[in-house]
Amino acid sequence: MAEKRDYYEVLGVDKNADKKEIKKAYRKLAMKYHPDVSDDPECTEKFKEISEAYAVLSDDDKRSKYDKYGHAGMNGFSQEDIFNNINFEDIFKGFGFGGGSSGGGGFDSIFDLFGFGGGRRNGPQRGDDIAYDLKITLEEAAKGFERDIEVPHKKTCPHCNGSKAEPGSKVTTCQTCGGSGQVRQVNNTPLGQFATVRPCSTCKGEGKIIETPCRECHGRGIIRKKSTIHIKVPAGVDNGSRLRVAGEGDVGAKGGPSGDLYVMIRVKNHELFQREGSDLTYEMPISFVQASLGDTLEAPTLDGTVELKIPAGTQTGTSFRVKGQGMPHLRWNGKGNLYVKVKIVTPKKLNPKQKELLREFADVSGDEIYAEEKGLFDKFKDAISH
Ligand SMILES: [Zn+2]
Ligand SMILES: [Zn+2]
Repeated sequence: MAEKRDYYEVLGVDKNADKKEIKKAYRKLAMKYHPDVSDDPECTEKFKEISEAYAVLSDDDKRSKYDKYGHAGMNGFSQEDIFNNINFEDIFKGFGFGGGSSGGGGFDSIFDLFGFGGGRRNGPQRGDDIAYDLKITLEEAAKGFERDIEVPHKKTCPHCNGSKAEPGSKVTTCQTCGGSGQVRQVNNTPLGQFATVRPCSTCKGEGKIIETPCRECHGRGIIRKKSTIHIKVPAGVDNGSRLRVAGEGDVGAKGGPSGDLYVMIRVKNHELFQREGSDLTYEMPISFVQASLGDTLEAPTLDGTVELKIPAGTQTGTSFRVKGQGMPHLRWNGKGNLYVKVKIVTPKKLNPKQKELLREFADVSGDEIYAEEKGLFDKFKDAISH
């Protein structure tokens, strides 16, 4: 597809053009390219292009976004949002176009021309997807589980079964539109026939007249309620995993399908283990004697303990891999590993006997130790007084 043209260029106006100039330029082009009057085989595309340019440049908010960001500034608008500020009736006034008497004018016919709106707005609409945050522990993530959750979502009103009318009350077919919810109007204009289709104003597009609206949903046909939904969380889920439960989002409109429910998993931090993917790390404090002489220790795992041999001469920060004691892989069999990272802890308090032995140790090792029976603070005081 060709690069999208600049809106000012499309309308042939200056960047500083005021609203009047923009409208004048658009009217002129619209008369030329309106598919009802134009012989140009590409008139529909051209008409859409100029209409889109006009829709944006005639709206202060859209125009300032377009001036700042170009076409990217329009990304937040749907096609219908872009066009919704055009008053086509006003544009075509005096040309006999789209002369609807009750506002809107050729609005809906424009959407029909462009192949969106109209039918879509009146037809079935899919319900919204909804998100539900579920906080779980690392142990739960490791084992997987099933649970009932209470999810608030929009459901068909059970009282009126979605009919919007109080059960037993009178509902009649709309006389204006004959039940279709749409009215089609053909206007003979000097430029040819111009058809408009718009939602029926008598029944607001419903096709029926409800005498007594449902008292539970106040005539909306939809209520917001909590449903109990049974979910299965597979072993191995991680923070940010999403579980889709099809059809448990908001109910659709006019017979459209329901949206989906997304359960967003949040795994709480664990007090012992750090997780990275399917691996776990546990930081294990050991004494320098254990590190020096070697030892056999018990390290915790998610579901028990494991025996771990620390060889003599182990340095602080060394990691020992315990195979298969990590988290289960979500998409394939097997488990990650547990890494036990040792941290050598220097004793903070020593009794006289321990001190004596350590001095002896230093002596044998050939280390000269100057520390006296003074705390660090006293030594610091001594240092600055000299
Ligand atoms: Zn109801
Ligand atoms: Zn009607």
